[in-house]
Amino acid sequence: MKAAEPAGIIVEERSDFIRTKGRQKQQLKCDADSIAGCVSQRACVYCGARVVLNPVTDAIHLVHGPIGCSSYTWDIRGSLSSSADLYRFSFSTDLKEHDVIFGGEKKLARAIDELVQKYPSKLVFVYSTCIVGVIGDDLEAVCKAAAQRHGIEVIPVQSSGFIGNKSAGYRAACDALLRLLRPPEGKGLAKTRSINYLGDFNLAGEVWIIKNYLKEMGVEVNVAFTGDSNYTSLKKAARASLNIVQCAGSMYYLAEKMEELYGIPHMNISFLGLEDTSASLRKIAAAFGDAAIMSKTEELIARETARVKDAIQWYRRKMEGKKAAIYVGGGFKAISLIKQFREIGIDVVMIGTQTGRQEEYDTITDLVDDGTVILDDANPSELEKFMTEKGAHLLVGGVKERPLAYKLGMAFIDHNHDRKHPLSGFVGAVNFAGEVYSTLCSPVWNYI
Ligand code: SF4
Repeated sequence: MKAAEPAGIIVEERSDFIRTKGRQKQQLKCDADSIAGCVSQRACVYCGARVVLNPVTDAIHLVHGPIGCSSYTWDIRGSLSSSADLYRFSFSTDLKEHDVIFGGEKKLARAIDELVQKYPSKLVFVYSTCIVGVIGDDLEAVCKAAAQRHGIEVIPVQSSGFIGNKSAGYRAACDALLRLLRPPEGKGLAKTRSINYLGDFNLAGEVWIIKNYLKEMGVEVNVAFTGDSNYTSLKKAARASLNIVQCAGSMYYLAEKMEELYGIPHMNISFLGLEDTSASLRKIAAAFGDAAIMSKTEELIARETARVKDAIQWYRRKMEGKKAAIYVGGGFKAISLIKQFREIGIDVVMIGTQTGRQEEYDTITDLVDDGTVILDDANPSELEKFMTEKGAHLLVGGVKERPLAYKLGMAFIDHNHDRKHPLSGFVGAVNFAGEVYSTLCSPVWNYI
């Protein structure tokens, strides 16, 4: 094994993906395929696409594949709707051996016809799964014919498993959305003084919290991608004059494309934690260059900060000096979490992401203390090793990391898509602190 830091890396080929701040100067490797033989925590391509598109509330979401793939449904998501609830169904073509041998195109066409008859909708997303990539069903042609038959939009989502990792799924979903946004030919949509909010899936109503802040500032939200969105609202997306991006991992590509196609500039923001929420609201206000918006923004920040300050201080006193490990999907969330843990007196000793980008890892490296382990596309063995070595008391992650933390007798915070309480904005910062406190200081740990 070549000399590598941190010492004792289990799979040698992974050494470039792991760094200890202060001990190694070379940049961390990221945005690459997982190493064969390692159990990546990344979800599949189709799952990445479903994360992004499933919150479109009035669409038929049809999974073209074996029944197992469609078990990824609304039930394991927390995205809320203010109107339609069609997105809560997970439809499947239920491909069987016969379809794999003779092709599943006819079955898919029949499934679309049946669904459109039963559930009137202007929009169908058809997700490709691994086996469809193998047997080569022509999704494009089937969807095009179905769209003509029914006079609605039937959009193929090219998310079969062999085209890459979860990031490729995000991209497939963004490509599907781009097809939907296309303004009618010759009828460019007139720009309005509004923003699109990208990368918020309205988990536990988070989009509504941020929309209320923006409304109070005097900023209109044109459409959120994709939390609580629908066919009609998405169709108007090209009207906005600015795109703000919360989950850059999933939506940066869409923001770039919308700038290229519709001239809509974009900026990264984050509504996780007090510091980033205030900074992001100020950034949005500054983009409008309007004195009234800026002054209302300052009033809102002052009022909301005063409202939550004492609660945050109380939690800080209780948890000061504890150590946290972070393993989340995207880099932007990881960056905000470092600051958010600092607000409640907790140091980050290990941090990693499934799909972080180079510039995000550079920022992470700048923010964390010397000795912090930073890792991309980790496997459970590495997470266990570094959390244990670094003495982490708590892990923040998603559903796949939860059992690992509990098996190690460690507190755990769910920051994934299946949670039922909001973690965004000022109110979310208090919820986060409260949840960290309840797991970290739970008496259950005294019995281990
Ligand atoms: S079969 Fe492929 S698409 Fe379906 S859940 Fe498994 S990895 Fe994802």
